[in-house]
Amino acid sequence: MIFTTVSYRAKFKLARTNNDDLQTCLSSSLPLSIRTIYPCSTLANQNSSQYQCDHFNVSGLSSVRGGRISHFPAVIVYATDSNNVQNVVKCATKLNYIVNARSGGHSYEGYCLGSMYNNIVINMEAINYTHINQYDGTGTFGAGARIGPIYYRTYQYNYTINAGSCPWVGLAGHALGGGQGFLGRLHGLLSDNILEMKAVNAQGELITINETHEPELYWALRGAGGGLFVIVTEFKIRLVKPPSLVRHFSSIWYLNATKLVMQRYQSLLFDDKISNFSNNLVLVMGVSKINVTISIFYFGIEFDEFNKTISLLLTTLPIPNRTDLYEQDWLTFVYKTSGIDDDSDDLQRLLLDNLTYPTHYFKAKHLFYDRPISSHSLDKFIDGLASGDGQIIMIFIPWDGYLSTIPVDETAFPHRHYKFSIQFTVYPNDEQHEKQQMNWLNQVYLAVYNDSAKYSYINYIDRDVPNWMSVYYHTHQQRLINIQHMCHIYLDYLPS
Ligand SMILES: Cc1cc2nc3c(=O)[nH]c(=O)nc-3n(C[C@H](O)[C@H](O)[C@H](O)COP(=O)(O)OP(=O)(O)OC[C@H]3O[C@@H](n4cnc5c(N)ncnc54)[C@H](O)[C@@H]3O)c2cc1C
Repeated sequence: MIFTTVSYRAKFKLARTNNDDLQTCLSSSLPLSIRTIYPCSTLANQNSSQYQCDHFNVSGLSSVRGGRISHFPAVIVYATDSNNVQNVVKCATKLNYIVNARSGGHSYEGYCLGSMYNNIVINMEAINYTHINQYDGTGTFGAGARIGPIYYRTYQYNYTINAGSCPWVGLAGHALGGGQGFLGRLHGLLSDNILEMKAVNAQGELITINETHEPELYWALRGAGGGLFVIVTEFKIRLVKPPSLVRHFSSIWYLNATKLVMQRYQSLLFDDKISNFSNNLVLVMGVSKINVTISIFYFGIEFDEFNKTISLLLTTLPIPNRTDLYEQDWLTFVYKTSGIDDDSDDLQRLLLDNLTYPTHYFKAKHLFYDRPISSHSLDKFIDGLASGDGQIIMIFIPWDGYLSTIPVDETAFPHRHYKFSIQFTVYPNDEQHEKQQMNWLNQVYLAVYNDSAKYSYINYIDRDVPNWMSVYYHTHQQRLINIQHMCHIYLDYLPS
């Protein structure tokens, strides 16, 4: 989020020797109870009781660490309501500071901390209220809420959200970029269900954004990603009904079956004779250096199709080395697929009370596909997998169903016509290991790059992507640039 002009950006780094003006402005416009933390090196009087300072390591605020965050903000403000956000933005605009909102801190590249030195970070975490209207099936959430608690609370009213699977992810960044999850084939993206937002614009005004108020922003904020145009303080979301039951069949093969299994997965998705699955069915494949897994999920209680799909999958493949079958209620499923390694069944404690988020250390890349990967590229991909040392995982996820029936220009999310996507991830042990792991990741990614549509998803943001506006925004690039001009800001995601 940038509230300044492009020409200002050039002189911005050089011009400022201290942040006294900012401290004065914030302390006169925010209540004393609002925590504001400055890096100690920027405070003229470190013993002053007026300001808190910290020799902080900024990467502690981001849940994703990869040694890629190298700048220091001027201040971190812990806002507790939209009024605080307005006042911070007014100071920022007056004094030409860049402002970045941090909600769940789960940006893959740490962009909740922005990308520029001496910016203002507004931590939105405390603005996390939840109101469920069980009569009209809507939920109103503070932008700093995380999706785990939202899953928990909506379920108490027999509702849920069609969002992703990590409970610590922040609603704001997630919904603004799309928000894809297991219910995507049934209900689309989370952004498709945003009915209204309250947000602070560059002038510090609190505005309402919906189909009739600020329709261009309403379009843009559903899919273009967080950190652009405005700071959202509240979302009103259309809730969906949770599946009455979830069935999950998983089958694992060792490495020698990788190519056969990958081909079978693709033919299940692409072959006309077998691809007419209902939207209740989701097929996910995970490929690692050690094994390949296909998981079939069924959201509902009619199991014929589920059983038929399992037989279809297994008929032409070698017997899996292991299979598992689970039957769960929706909330247990949400929790179990979140990757938290805790066998407790106390979902309230896990999803609501005990939400201490872990730090993830990974680097990811992502591509969409509208045709199967060729046999030749699969060979290169499998050779690439074998060539590295460490942990690498590729997750294949379907992106069709109801999601692809929504007209492409209805929201800013432009990727409605792909069959599946691959997320490629490595997990370096430390910064030194990172370089070697990145090379490995690139090798595997490039092996199947030319078979892809060459577009990607903003929520899986990758700072190494060249020509990123086209890759993330495709045909919506120009319309987003026009909106950005209208808001007197420009995009702050990636280093220019
Ligand atoms: C472990 C993990 C699992 C994930 N799983 C999924 C998944 O299943 N499906 C999926 O679609 N995505 C998934 N994601 C990606 C996730 O949706 C994005 O990283 C998302 O941007 C995170 O939002 P956040 O609020 O937590 O992040 P933050 O880092 O706080 O913010 C992300 C961006 O949004 C901006 N922003 C934050 N708050 C606001 C606000 N209030 N107003 C305006 N801009 C704001 C930030 O400045 C930043 O640019 C996952 C990410 C991780 C790390």
